[in-house]
Amino acid sequence: MRGFEKLLMSNKNLILDDRLYSYLSSVSVREAEILGSLREETSRHPMGIMQIAPEQGQFMAMLVKLMGAKKTIEVGVFTGYSSLAIALALPEDGKIVACDVNEEYTAIARRYWEKAGVSHKIDLHLVPAIITLETLIAKGQTASFDFAFIDADKSNYDNYYELCLQLIRPGGLIAIDNVLWSGKVADPEIQDNRTKKIRNLNEKIHRDDRVDVSLVPIADGLTLAMKK
Ligand code: CA
Repeated sequence: MRGFEKLLMSNKNLILDDRLYSYLSSVSVREAEILGSLREETSRHPMGIMQIAPEQGQFMAMLVKLMGAKKTIEVGVFTGYSSLAIALALPEDGKIVACDVNEEYTAIARRYWEKAGVSHKIDLHLVPAIITLETLIAKGQTASFDFAFIDADKSNYDNYYELCLQLIRPGGLIAIDNVLWSGKVADPEIQDNRTKKIRNLNEKIHRDDRVDVSLVPIADGLTLAMKK
């Protein structure tokens, strides 16, 4: 960490309190009506907290458009907010290989994909994501995907990262969610398994010469790793 104390003194980072967050949303978020309805329905779900923030969906949709991405992967679908945001940003012949194991949550996702008219872009695989990703590799799809979003069980984050890195083309992007983990990663007292897994992956990617990296402090922290 040497040298970073100086950085702390020279760079002031904003804390987004509720008022500033509302302001940011009011001048930036352009959420499609269908995404708003899904967010609303998911927020009433007991696990609704797992849904990504609207500004994050919008940010990733912009990345996908900027890259001209067509072939994408999503590890962890939940009720489908991020896949819907990305599917809406993809061209007509764009695809998402969507990985999840939960039938109940993804039934909500499917309903909204249908409603939005994007279900033809999304192939949902209801088996452990590792199996889906390994199958894609076995089928010769290595280095053929443009973009991957990882937002699933934290204990497998490193496995997902390694498999996605094989599947992504050079210049392709892997986005990894929850890398700031409500701040727990920065607290050395916190040593539970999931926090350690995220912390280890953050440190590994920082040193990883195979990618260019940027950790964006949006929502719960989003790492962008671009394959060299
Ligand atoms: Ca997440």
